[in-house]
Amino acid sequence: MMIKRTIKLFVDFDGTITLEDVGEAIFRKFGNVEKVNSIVEDLLNDKISSRQCWNELCDSVGVIKKNELDEFIDLLDVDPTFISFVKFCKENEIELFVLSDGFDYYIDRIFNKAGITGLKYYSNKFIVDEKGILKTEYPYFDASSPTSANCKKNHIINHSGEDDYTIYIGDGNSDKDASQYCDFIFAKNGLARFCSMEKISFYPFTNFIDIQKKVAELLTKKNLRKRHQAELKRKSAYLAE
Ligand SMILES: [Mg+2]
Repeated sequence: MMIKRTIKLFVDFDGTITLEDVGEAIFRKFGNVEKVNSIVEDLLNDKISSRQCWNELCDSVGVIKKNELDEFIDLLDVDPTFISFVKFCKENEIELFVLSDGFDYYIDRIFNKAGITGLKYYSNKFIVDEKGILKTEYPYFDASSPTSANCKKNHIINHSGEDDYTIYIGDGNSDKDASQYCDFIFAKNGLARFCSMEKISFYPFTNFIDIQKKVAELLTKKNLRKRHQAELKRKSAYLAE
């Protein structure tokens, strides 16, 4: 029997949809670069969790002027190839979810500027209070994944059924665990190195043109085979609940 699968796409934000890591760029701009580098290095070496990393970075900034923050964010852009990819997904009725371990504040601002509306995304939250202090919230933290601030794998599991074909697109640390719950992985930079090392199959990409070509090809396949390792991961996550 042929199985016509529904494709669900999960895409990281910082460094994947945007050309650079916006969260880190903000702290490099408004904080002390050396301190920021050492906090990020601790994160990459698994010495601290993502929540600890963000909280330490926020503390390192002190007071921030909201208008200066907004002006800085407005200098940063999405990868221009992402805009046509969103259109391609709409035309082909592929559901796309953005999963970010960064913050709603700049994601909203950057999507608005790019004219991207109505995209579903899950991220951490921050506000700049009246004193200019950054206040963070982690609504999607899950103690079963203590290293992530936003537990991406939960969103993947919540938004896909057993017969769906899931695709992950990412570039870094916050994608390592989550991507393994998907049937097909597009990876670059740190995520690509991680997948190579762990012998997890992935498709390398430099921008969304590469991804669009490959997804278009997947759409023509009558029977998309699910990745066995991803199915096992998902099953064990269900059982743990
Ligand atoms: Mg990233």
